[in-house]
Amino acid sequence: MIRKYLGLVCTAAFVCFSCTVSPPATPKLVITLVVDQMRPDLLTRFDNLYTGGFRWLMDHGIWFTNTHHEHSYTVTGPGHIAIGFGQYPGKMGVLGNSWYDRNLKKNVNCVEDPDAKVVGSTKGRARSLAGYDTKGLGDWLKTEYTSSKVVSIGGKDRAACILGGKQPNLPLYYNRAGSFISSDYYVNELPEWVTLFNQNLKADSYKDSLWVKSLSDKLYLEYAREDHYQGEVDDYLMDEYSPVFPIGMDPGTDPTYMLMNRPWFEREVLNLAKEAINGEALGKGDHPDLLFIGFSAMDWMTHDYGPYSQEVMDACIKLDRYLGNFIEFVDKTLGLENVMFVLTADHGGLPLPEYFVEKGGSGGRINKKHLAEAIEWIDEECEERFGKKLYHREGANYFLDHERLKKANLRPDHIYEIVKKYLTNVDGVDRVAIKDDILKSKDKDKITLRLKNMIHIEKTPEIFPIANPGYLFMGPYGTSHGSPYDYDTHVPLIFARSHFKSQEDPSPRATVDIAPTIAKYLDVDIPEYCDGNPIDL
Ligand SMILES: [Zn+2]
Repeated sequence: MIRKYLGLVCTAAFVCFSCTVSPPATPKLVITLVVDQMRPDLLTRFDNLYTGGFRWLMDHGIWFTNTHHEHSYTVTGPGHIAIGFGQYPGKMGVLGNSWYDRNLKKNVNCVEDPDAKVVGSTKGRARSLAGYDTKGLGDWLKTEYTSSKVVSIGGKDRAACILGGKQPNLPLYYNRAGSFISSDYYVNELPEWVTLFNQNLKADSYKDSLWVKSLSDKLYLEYAREDHYQGEVDDYLMDEYSPVFPIGMDPGTDPTYMLMNRPWFEREVLNLAKEAINGEALGKGDHPDLLFIGFSAMDWMTHDYGPYSQEVMDACIKLDRYLGNFIEFVDKTLGLENVMFVLTADHGGLPLPEYFVEKGGSGGRINKKHLAEAIEWIDEECEERFGKKLYHREGANYFLDHERLKKANLRPDHIYEIVKKYLTNVDGVDRVAIKDDILKSKDKDKITLRLKNMIHIEKTPEIFPIANPGYLFMGPYGTSHGSPYDYDTHVPLIFARSHFKSQEDPSPRATVDIAPTIAKYLDVDIPEYCDGNPIDL
């Protein structure tokens, strides 16, 4: 079966949802939409072109335009923690998507659960937050109202498992092999509506799909840069470097794996969310329910092409249309007056460094060879001077062996000076940070605070480098995120209801404010350990 994506998205405004019924003070369902790697300018730059879901959210939303993740390392796992738990990821020990665990002496994933089994397929990984001893918004709600339901759906396992709190009713994530799955930490079997959805998904049938633009070529040149741009990833017909539309799949590529890298993956996620609303009767109970939806494909696409590309512009236009269709469904099923929508992102991102520089910024790609050499020289000098290595190294992160240091009568400073000497000579490395200094620092600047909010007293490496603004530890294609700088921390935050008037509020807000704001709006107690402050809507 060929599902050729023709890009014939209806551009006529359909936004005529009902708003005549007077809304209840407390919504029956809160739908939180988290777009992976969405900078706020992906909303503002294409504002004139949005006619679907983004349009509705902006027209019925209070938009906090100065919202940041106040932690760094700005990646998916920690970003979702801030949103779903209202807590800084450092104290929870969520140091990244994965990290080196010095006790286990191996890398661990942020949603790793060695005791859990996959539910719903023979393929994929079983995930949960069993390893964390805290609670998030979903748990706070269910403590208050035991009949409330929490469902979280995402492409990535960490998106689905983290957004719903520690014990949601049902997280569902894509196994990159044709099915949405869960783990037996949550359920022993998938509800029938998920099984049916998986049977009908037929991810294989996307193998011949071509990604083409939804609007006219002229508009892409007006709102984005030229299609062929050095630095974009080209993963289709790679004989000659040509990162341009149309984008298909090379023969031999597994379409069920590749599905999560294409715009229509988000449509499937929304189709699954529709089934969840029907199958779990969300928004139909006596007490409010929560539905979280994570759009993971946006991250892969933005990594590959950068936020100023025609590809990402098109992905946004398509997501706007898909979301419009979804909001229409919610209106028909529940009545929009009964629902609140929240839109945000787990982190922003850097434009392709080449484009950043072209536009007058300073930046670039840190030379991997130079970095590898510096690391090698550090190892060599430490061994030469101290006899043996006194740390475990992951990339350029140094986990000191305190016992060995003590025995050798050495201080951490001895290692730090050597690391600093070589790493700060690498073009693009701003400085080498020391965990203890950041923890003790009285500085109130935003960079120090963001680094501090990411530190776990035992788990964080003692010494780690920080890149200059505009620089990436990757190359030669694509872009990324992770830094403490505004381009990575700044995200959209919109709370929308059918009776809200469109409004922009530039007061500074943090993503840890989202969970307590929803809690307060639903009359749910906010625990003391929550790091955020509820916003009055
Ligand atoms: Zn990413």
